[in-house]
Formats: sequence, C-alpha cells, structure tokens
Amino acid sequence: MKLARYIFKVFVVAIFFAQCLSAAPAGSAKTLQIYCIDVEGGQATLFVTPQGESLLIDTGWDGFNGRDADRIVAAAKDAGISKIDYVLITHYHSDHVGGATQLAARIPVGTFIDHGENTETNDAPTMAGWSAYQRLLATGNYKRISVKPGETLPIKGAEFVIVNGDGKVLERPLSNARMKNENCKPVPQPAADHTENEFSLGLVMNFGNLRLVDLGDLPWAKELELMCPLNKIGKADILIATHHGFNGSGSPALVHGVVPRVAIMENGAKKGASPSAWDIVHSSPGLSAFYQLHWSEEGGAAHNSPAEFLANIGGQDSGNYFKITARPDGSFDVLNSRTGKTGSYLPPK
Ligand SMILES: [Zn+2]
Repeated sequence: MKLARYIFKVFVVAIFFAQCLSAAPAGSAKTLQIYCIDVEGGQATLFVTPQGESLLIDTGWDGFNGRDADRIVAAAKDAGISKIDYVLITHYHSDHVGGATQLAARIPVGTFIDHGENTETNDAPTMAGWSAYQRLLATGNYKRISVKPGETLPIKGAEFVIVNGDGKVLERPLSNARMKNENCKPVPQPAADHTENEFSLGLVMNFGNLRLVDLGDLPWAKELELMCPLNKIGKADILIATHHGFNGSGSPALVHGVVPRVAIMENGAKKGASPSAWDIVHSSPGLSAFYQLHWSEEGGAAHNSPAEFLANIGGQDSGNYFKITARPDGSFDVLNSRTGKTGSYLPPK
C-alpha cells in the first residue's frame, strides 16, 4: 500500500514538471523576446510575446537563395515558435517586403499587416516587390489587414500601437505622451523624401514598463510631424534607429526627444549608419548603449560603436543578430550572437 502511494506521488510530481516544461515557448514564460535579425541593411525584427504570439516587422531582401528568410526562420526556431502570427510590412521597398514570398514558403504565416496600396508605381524594384506581395495575398492563404496611425495591433501579450503610416502620423498624442519637445529647434534638414519611405508604418510597443519605438524608414520631415512641437509618442527605453541610420532620417527631435536608454541601428556594412545620423544617436542624452548590426564602412573608426556592441564586423556575410529578452518591470538583456555576451539594463527609473 505504501509503495502504491509512493508511486502515485512520483507520478503526480512528474506530471507537474512535464506541464511546466510544455507550457511556454523557449525562455521564461514571463519574458518578451525581440530578435534584430541581420538582413544586410534591410529590416527584419521579430517579437515573441510571453503568450507565444509573434510579430515580424519586415522580411529583408528577396534573392540570395532565401538567405534572409532562412535567418528569420532560424530566429523563430530559437524562440520556440513554428508559425509567425503577424508579418508587418512597413512599406514596399525591396529591403522590407522582398523576402515575403521566400519566408512564406518556409514557415506558416497567419496575417500580413501593411499601410495599404503601393504609392511608388514608377520604381521598378518597388513594383516587383509589391507585385510579388500581391501574388502571395492572392493565394488566399493569408489574412491581410491595412492599419492606420492610432490603431492597436491584435496581438496578445504586448501592446503595439501604430504611430505613422500611409503618409500620416498620429493626430493626437498617445495617452500620457503629450510632452513639449525641447529638441525641435530648427536644424538643416536633408532633401525631402516622397518615396514609399514616407508611407512607412511605425509603432510604439509597450510591454509592462518597457517601451520600444520603431518608425520604419520614415523620413526626417515626417518624424518632425510626429515629434514637434509636441512629442506625441513619449519616451522609450529602446529606439530602433529610423531608416537603418541613414541621414535622411534620425532627427534630434526624434532621437533626443524619445531619450532612449538603448539604441539599435539595423544597418549593413555599406548601407545606413551615415556618420551624421550616427552622431545624433551617439550624443543622445541618457544613452547607455548603442548597438549596430554591422560595422559601418562609411563610419570608420570615428563613427562606430566599440566591437562589443557590433553584431557583424568585417565584410563576411555571417548573419549575427541581437536577441533582447525583456521583463515586465522594464529590465532587459541584449545578447550579441557573435560574442555570446549579454548586456543587462535595469528597469526604467
Ligand atoms: Zn529600408
């Protein structure tokens, strides 16, 4: 009788641990994972919430034997997911929508999110990316939603609010974000950019006390509409540098206005990370760390972060990434997959 009771207890304990192990995807049940995937100067940023729901912002480039899609699938696998619930296409330039078809061939996708119709119909590469995306949607295998500033994405576990899209920005500040911006004094502006960049979707993510801002490739003048004279989006802990760090974006009004603790530039060795844009991020008040997906050849020694903050150095195509593990108190870790080392950041004050 005693033996039977003992076996029963062991059985109950075993069931309990089996449930604990199978209840959540890889990583702690309470953390949000963000992967800044190297797509050689394009964008691909994967969010996986504690509930296991996933949002991918952009799909990198077409071609290269599916290189970018393979890297996204590898990140998904690392996060313990076998499907991407939402793929948000910020705009229809080929470094953002290019990899969509190759990605969908490799991993199930639920819903595509976009800003609406392509606006750059006179540019052949953009038309090619847009047309391929239309063919993918025409299969009928995916839902599609087009969203506008002020809308919240239907994702469980973190809040994603659209703040720019289809040429517009938020009409009203986000709740608790109505702030006078001291960084709006006139400075020389880059040339106007009326390409698809102007129609980029951008968002603010809230996860507990943590806030992240990613405005896609939004041009400088549109950043000012969002940030001046009132900062309509508030402060953020993490800023994904606009437009890969090109100097056509990344105004002081935006960068210094959101006062990021950590900035991440999704640049390539030869794309983005313009020295003047790099300087604006580097001089941002209160910045603790400035990560770059690549050493920027244009930046040279004077305009690159120290090696520990670089995922890819030299010219080789090695595809190292950053993985952010965030907790609801606003603390987070940034793993550099090249070095295996992690930087840790405390909750916001
Ligand atoms: Zn781009």
